Amino acid sequence: MTLPSTGPAAEQWEAAVAAVRALGGDAGIQLICHVSPDGDALGSMLGFGLALRRLGFTRVRATFPGEFRVPTPYAELPGVDLLVPEAEAFTDPALVLVFDVAAESRMGGLAGLVAAAPVSVVLDHHASNTGFGTIRLVDPRAAATSVLAEQLVTRLGVPLDAEIAECFYVALATDTGSFKFEATTVAVHELAARLIATGLRPGDISRRIFDTRPFGAMKLTGEVLGRAVLEPSAAGGRGLVWTYATLADLERHDQPPYVLDTLIDPVRSAAEADVALLVKQVAEREWAVSLRSKGAVDVSRLAMSQGGGGHRLAAGFTGYGEPGDVVDTVRRLLDDYLS
Ligand code: 5GP
Ligand code: MN
Repeated sequence: MTLPSTGPAAEQWEAAVAAVRALGGDAGIQLICHVSPDGDALGSMLGFGLALRRLGFTRVRATFPGEFRVPTPYAELPGVDLLVPEAEAFTDPALVLVFDVAAESRMGGLAGLVAAAPVSVVLDHHASNTGFGTIRLVDPRAAATSVLAEQLVTRLGVPLDAEIAECFYVALATDTGSFKFEATTVAVHELAARLIATGLRPGDISRRIFDTRPFGAMKLTGEVLGRAVLEPSAAGGRGLVWTYATLADLERHDQPPYVLDTLIDPVRSAAEADVALLVKQVAEREWAVSLRSKGAVDVSRLAMSQGGGGHRLAAGFTGYGEPGDVVDTVRRLLDDYLS
């Protein structure tokens, strides 16, 4: 019988705390999160970065690979001044901490920095995490990476203040779909309560993060949803709903790519489909693929078979060709999975 996981082992927590305590105040500490960062990636990383500042560390930088563009909803998070473009990351940091990164491929060129660092602490909650890093705070049962980041902050003796709490709250709220998803446990609400108790205004934060979009993004959403296709007999009769968005769509509405990050949510609401698929163009014949399931399919297994990853009910991978090719691939993966 396998015992249920109880999160990272005590010695991993102790090693992480010791790794921070071993450093002098002027040690270079590099924080890294995944490409196209979302609320959990940025929130867990910046909240932890602020805690390092409270501990007196003066040389802390945070970064992510690829285009240095922070999605507007997160552009005013406390601690954004810690962010630097990938090219300005420390070349020889004494310590690296990695947030919400399921696989080294999600760190682009920064993966080399992690591999070369004397100590690398990985904080993550993806079941598909590939096992890199020297100290591993990885718990697939955690609702967000910020759950682990907050525990490490507490173990380091830093009290939560409103700035750190706002970062962690944004991370928790985004990764739980505003406290809707299955990982939303009593402990998640208890953490949310502790964060709010620092003086946060959840209504203001939610409006900024979830309910404010440029008009063009709203029109773009309408178009992309308008071309959605329902295939009730796909996925062994459990149903598939899919749509796609191209770079030309973004250009026509003058929108940056991040506005597509949450578009899978209205797609997956279709009652007739267990599986939802959104195919987002990244480059010529290259697509970021989002997969969701209402419960019948472990979409992280499908995504992993294509070199991607994620969680049981929310996962992604990079697809190639035309959108129809990606949909064909997913139909076939679903047939194989369910046969
Ligand atoms: P989303 O569809 O919102 O982009 O991602 C859903 C989940 O799948 C997230 O946990 C995200 O980290 C993960 N994910 C998305 N795309 C990829 C990918 O290409 N590789 C891996 N390893 N994980 C991905
Ligand atoms: Mn996450």
